[in-house]
Amino acid sequence: MNPHSVIFSAVLSFLAFLGEAAASQLFQLPTANRAVLDPSGSEKAFAGTTGHSWNSGTFGCIRSGGGKFHEGLDIRCMERNRQGEPTDAVRSTADGTVAYLNTRPSLSNYGNYVVMRHSIEGLEIYSLYAHLSSIQPGIETGRRVKSGEQIAIMGRTANTREVIPKERAHLHFEINLVINERYALWHAKNMPESRNDHGNFNGRNLIGIDPWKLLLEQQRLGTNFSLLRHIQTQPELCRVLVQGSDFPWVRRYRALRERNPIAEREGIAGYELVLTFNGLPCRIIPRAASQIQSKAKYSILSVRSEELSKHPCGHLLFKRGQIWTLLPAGERLLNILTF
Ligand SMILES: [Zn+2]
Repeated sequence: MNPHSVIFSAVLSFLAFLGEAAASQLFQLPTANRAVLDPSGSEKAFAGTTGHSWNSGTFGCIRSGGGKFHEGLDIRCMERNRQGEPTDAVRSTADGTVAYLNTRPSLSNYGNYVVMRHSIEGLEIYSLYAHLSSIQPGIETGRRVKSGEQIAIMGRTANTREVIPKERAHLHFEINLVINERYALWHAKNMPESRNDHGNFNGRNLIGIDPWKLLLEQQRLGTNFSLLRHIQTQPELCRVLVQGSDFPWVRRYRALRERNPIAEREGIAGYELVLTFNGLPCRIIPRAASQIQSKAKYSILSVRSEELSKHPCGHLLFKRGQIWTLLPAGERLLNILTF
């Protein structure tokens, strides 16, 4: 081979590698702010709350001294118009379908927001983009959208009395699983006194994973990244045994089910759910009647106290004397999950 063709074929294989790398990226950044991919985090990447560091713009128990949960990332604005308003393009993080739009900011502290539905490795997953100034024309429920396609423009909309200040302009970005597709019915039956303006896309029915961790792990593992594995290996807070052989979560998230030969032989009488600090059932283990001790509808099998003290904002359970008990939020989560 002459030197030119060596270089030519090297360039070709590099381009093929780039193409492959791009194709294998399950999730793209929702804005042009690439500082989000810096594992050490920075002011450039995240907009913290007023008077607090960038850290308060990340996912987890990072507000009110750890007691309050922030379900997403507040990705800082990069482009502004002459009035200082954010103009960053907001793009779908993956191929998907528009699941829900809220275009009446007064109805949500998320202001204008879009929820996209994605089907990845057998998992139904929902990305959410909030505080938008506007949604792109043609973005309507049911519309198919390509990964990286612009769906909106960043903004500062919210229904809170205090508006989001210009200097804090950001995209609030979440990655969620939906707890129950019959949520709207559950809400009408169990919380008739409170309005539900968003049907199944009520915040109570969405349960998130940390988008920053996900993006960093994808960056680290490249083509070896698996969303399924990422979810199954979320840190465990507790295990709860739920009676019953069939409920929406175990049906919709079959991919999270593990094998249990005894239950397969004897029949499934319940499920052991591994919950994260914010209540995500990240692993589902079928159990036979012979493997279930309690008669209660739900029973707590184990709790990792160090995980609980690391994340004090979950409010799912507490220890009364020597006994672990579900708090109202934990009880409600299991009620919705099994409704
Ligand atoms: Zn936020």
